[in-house]
Amino acid sequence: MNKIDGKTIKVPEEVRAIMDTLVSSGYEAYCVGGCVRDSLLGRAPEDWDITTSALPEQVKSLFSNTVDTGIQHGTVMIVIRGIGYEVTTYRIDGKYLDGRHPEHVTFTRSLEEDLKRRDFTINAFAYNDGSGIVDLFDGMDDLEKKIVRAVGDPDARFTEDALRIMRAIRFAAQLDFKVEEETYAAIRRHADNLANVSMERIRVEFEKTLMSRNCGMVNEFFRLGMGDYILPGYAEKCAGFDEEIAACLPGEQEDDARRYLLLAILLKELSAEEAKDALRAMKYDNKTKAAVSAILRYKDAPLQADRARIKKALNEMGEEVFFLEADLQEAITRAGMDGLTKCQDDVTLSTFALVREMAEDIIAKHEPFSTTHLAVNGNDLIRAGVPEGVQLKEELEALLERVIRDPGLNTKEQLMELLRGKS
Ligand code: ATP
Ligand code: MG
Repeated sequence: MNKIDGKTIKVPEEVRAIMDTLVSSGYEAYCVGGCVRDSLLGRAPEDWDITTSALPEQVKSLFSNTVDTGIQHGTVMIVIRGIGYEVTTYRIDGKYLDGRHPEHVTFTRSLEEDLKRRDFTINAFAYNDGSGIVDLFDGMDDLEKKIVRAVGDPDARFTEDALRIMRAIRFAAQLDFKVEEETYAAIRRHADNLANVSMERIRVEFEKTLMSRNCGMVNEFFRLGMGDYILPGYAEKCAGFDEEIAACLPGEQEDDARRYLLLAILLKELSAEEAKDALRAMKYDNKTKAAVSAILRYKDAPLQADRARIKKALNEMGEEVFFLEADLQEAITRAGMDGLTKCQDDVTLSTFALVREMAEDIIAKHEPFSTTHLAVNGNDLIRAGVPEGVQLKEELEALLERVIRDPGLNTKEQLMELLRGKS
């Protein structure tokens, strides 16, 4: 798939079929933007966008299964076998009055006009088999030099739409490119235009950068004066993102786990409550807020290779956060090592391995670590005469304390016996 042969791109069959239909009806049609860029770089494109001289209604009349995803901007989605392909009419963006969205768009018959409105030279390629790669702004050159360069005058382009200043850094981080000098200087000049961009869009670009192979590039946002728009009220206190700790995280991880840990590293100077507040301002979902603030809550209480302590930690944090906590504490420890005390370092690191091993063993053996794991519940205790409320909770916790030390005690008879023995 997507193999480059000279300057030929392997276009998926469905995309080719859409372009063929448009062309045989007398219109022009090209793949455009990210899919061409990624194909040229040998990366698998996320999605395939098509640009055409046909007007939206003309596009719709040619295909049976279409969705008006952005019809006012000329975009129609064509659905083939459950996958959507966006087909957008060549367009010229009108004046940008709000620093983010064009006031209106005008359709045009000129591919060149359509390519001119795109953000970066490496995002402004068009391709079809007949014309090959259409590269009007020396994007190929920039691709080879690994440069992100604005199409046209960067000041004008960043004034039109401030999201582009974050996209420039994001693409540089994802592709391992540099932002071209003039484009970079213009980013600095226009950082405050981010005030015009919604937090949802800011967060998407921020997170794509954070999750990229160059996550340290998020510091560019802070260096370039965008901190207050990304982390309102907390940018200064966070004091940047420690990429050395991030480099010490486990290599293979689920996306969500990595996201929580990277956010915890970003917010590590904040208290759990402040972190939650910062994530709320970033419009993060509840799961993310809860996971990241829990990781931070226990960050300064080192995990220890002690079975009873591990059970208590599992009880307080929950299994998911416990293992994330181990990852974070280990990464912080590794990043802080200077290699001089190698022997001590090895002991510290083997502690983390042991902590994980013990926790996995506790879980695998179903050893109780929560009052919900006890062989008795609140009702059993009430029936035995324990009053509801604080005392009930305390009795259950006292039983758990015993069972944590001796899992063999976790039978109804023994627990009731213990309860009676106490009273
Ligand atoms: P990816 O999908 O990998 O994030 P992409 O380049 O495909 O990267 P999209 O956001 O999907 O990015 O946009 C598709 C194309 O639309 C871009 O390649 C670019 O040509 C154009 N584009 C997107 N957003 C903007 C923008 N804010 N300003 C100008 N052009 C844009
Ligand atoms: Mg895309």
